[in-house]
Amino acid sequence: MPAPKRKPAATVPSAPAANTRASKLEKLGLRSDMDLVLHLPLRYEDETEIVTIQQAGMMGTSVAQVEGVVTACDIQYRPRRQLIVTIADDSGQLVMRFLNFYGSQTKQLAVGTRVRARGEIRHGFFGAEVVHPNYKVVLEGAPLPDVLTPVYPAGEGLSQAFLRKAIADAMQHIEWRDTLSPAQLAAQQLTPFESAVRLLHNPPPDVDEHALEDRSHPAWVRMKFDELLAQQLSLKRAQVARRAKNARALPVAGQLSAAFLNTLPFTLTKAQQRVVAEISTDLRASFPMQRLLQGDVGSGKTVVAALAAAQAIDSGYQAVLMAPTEILADQHFRKIAAWMEPLGVRVAWLTGSLKKKEKLAAQAMIESGEAQLVIGTHALIQDSVQFAKLGLVIVDEQHRFGVGQRLALRNKTTSENGGNETVQDIKSTAAVVPHQLMMSATPIPRTLAMTYYADLEISVIDELPPGRTPIVTRAVDQMRRDEVIARVHAAVQDGRQAYWVCPLIEESEALQLQTATETYAMLVEALPDLRVGLVHGRLKQAEKQEVMDAFSAGACHVLVATTVIEVGVDVPNASLMVIEHAERFGLSQLHQLRGRVGRGSAASVCLLLYQSPLGYIAKQRLMTMRETTDGFEIARRDLEIRGPGEFLGARQSGQAMLRFADLTTDQWLVDRARDLAQTLLQDPTPANQAAVSAHLARWLGGREDFLKV
Ligand code: ADP
Ligand code: MG
Repeated sequence: MPAPKRKPAATVPSAPAANTRASKLEKLGLRSDMDLVLHLPLRYEDETEIVTIQQAGMMGTSVAQVEGVVTACDIQYRPRRQLIVTIADDSGQLVMRFLNFYGSQTKQLAVGTRVRARGEIRHGFFGAEVVHPNYKVVLEGAPLPDVLTPVYPAGEGLSQAFLRKAIADAMQHIEWRDTLSPAQLAAQQLTPFESAVRLLHNPPPDVDEHALEDRSHPAWVRMKFDELLAQQLSLKRAQVARRAKNARALPVAGQLSAAFLNTLPFTLTKAQQRVVAEISTDLRASFPMQRLLQGDVGSGKTVVAALAAAQAIDSGYQAVLMAPTEILADQHFRKIAAWMEPLGVRVAWLTGSLKKKEKLAAQAMIESGEAQLVIGTHALIQDSVQFAKLGLVIVDEQHRFGVGQRLALRNKTTSENGGNETVQDIKSTAAVVPHQLMMSATPIPRTLAMTYYADLEISVIDELPPGRTPIVTRAVDQMRRDEVIARVHAAVQDGRQAYWVCPLIEESEALQLQTATETYAMLVEALPDLRVGLVHGRLKQAEKQEVMDAFSAGACHVLVATTVIEVGVDVPNASLMVIEHAERFGLSQLHQLRGRVGRGSAASVCLLLYQSPLGYIAKQRLMTMRETTDGFEIARRDLEIRGPGEFLGARQSGQAMLRFADLTTDQWLVDRARDLAQTLLQDPTPANQAAVSAHLARWLGGREDFLKV
């Protein structure tokens, strides 16, 4: 039994209150007065009216505000600990249920207290009820507000009242000048900046509530337009800046490329040929390529990457390929080395798990230029790795790397005369920047890619290699696990192999590991005549490799895995994929996982085990998975289900995320903003250039850097 943990002594002094407030604001990205002013309401609450409890119950599920006096306040334990408060007005009574509450709330809501409560009031079996209402304690006859109450996005520990006051203060200090001229406003039929902002923070009593709520109100349109304009301006500026930078032209798609194409056991698909040509053209330029190669899982991006590398090598430069996991890097290394080494190319391998001596040897090869192609993990971006003449950087599954990691690799290049350049040199325009190819199997809808990623060209492989059989996907209640196990058994009897993916447990890696081990034990017991393997993130690299090798070789029939197999694993004989607790995975993850099967000629099946009852979003996701295997369609639906805000994840997109514009509904505004950005940047008059700078400063502040990758 583990020893009981001792409480750590409280040694960290608590910071002064003002400081923590500032840092909480900072967490929301609110540094300047203008940031605060542009911190616009998430939604509005209509507290201008009170209805009787009886009326509220008749309104169906819409939100209502009632006022009553507390008649009972108890903590109950069935089915779980909760606070039950009953209030009554002349028309009836309402039960308020709090599943999370503070002990002090029982005092605050003592019998006899008058409260205003607002929430979704339902009439159930036991009468009117509301779960987690917003409420406040009031005196009898307290006046009602006559305007809508804004609700701001708030971090933990920041109250609405505090934000409201901070924003009101900031509004007195900022300079309100409009960054668009009256002529431009008229041409675009836009509301002036100041009146738009003021209206959104303090909507007048007669405002069109629906337009405010669904953000179609002209005041919202102005904000969205401004935001999109800033993005388009900075995107176009980044493009101009990139073209002014120097890269090594890699003009030769020569002997190596030709020999490589000859040795491939297949011919490239039309789509592969097209993207290879696009990349090849970019590599010939003397300014850096920045291209995203999108292709669904299994579409054959690796060959395209290898061909790009061949062009760099043919031109006398080094190429590097970085992958997010050792398993994936290893797979690339084996595959590409098997293609390239017979053609005389020196391929180096560098990951964190290498022994010190091997690492030094690899570094020496890279530094001397002997290694023409380098493949590895993020170990490649360490300071000790220096390239002799790096011409091309390829990043696989680029969305798995942070912005900083990608930048670090791009910044690794050495000057022509052999002296090592520092990051500082690279930033100056005289320095030489490598071409960059990023690859992703998480298809990002084009509109999204164009608005979120700054200056990025996009190539799409929209066709799978021939001979693939479509994957049949089924959602199965986990109560029917036995049938699923029987299916696994049958598949192996047919000479196939299967993946069994363990549930994702985001909160706890330890728990995830435990579940994986349990699932493994369960399958070992249920399938005594089969060989079952287990691979998870905590295994040592060599152990992982051993399991993966056994599975690749067909010596292991069923591979139990955590999501470490999410990317890149390629075992064509595996034709059955079971995903446990599929309801916990996001759509793109499910799609990636499913992409591990359907790689050979056998008909493949993906079984999504779920636990009922399913929530709305989970249901939509599983339905989507059943209906389509097209990654782009899945991405489109994902965008619909989740909205762009969550699509790329905050980490991925940094602060570049759009806050107000919604790409599913505001495409028309994107187009208009793009046109105006074009016009503005073409007009060289100082007044106009100053307006452009002012607009960018207002909307992006110091955050423009995030847009540069
Ligand atoms: P991904 O785009 O998911 O990285 P891979 O590059 O791993 O896909 O390719 C998947 C599989 O398809 C590999 O086994 C690869 O060798 C094969 N492949 C790639 N291109 C073709 C092609 N044109 N014809 C047949 N097979 C191909
Ligand atoms: Mg791949």
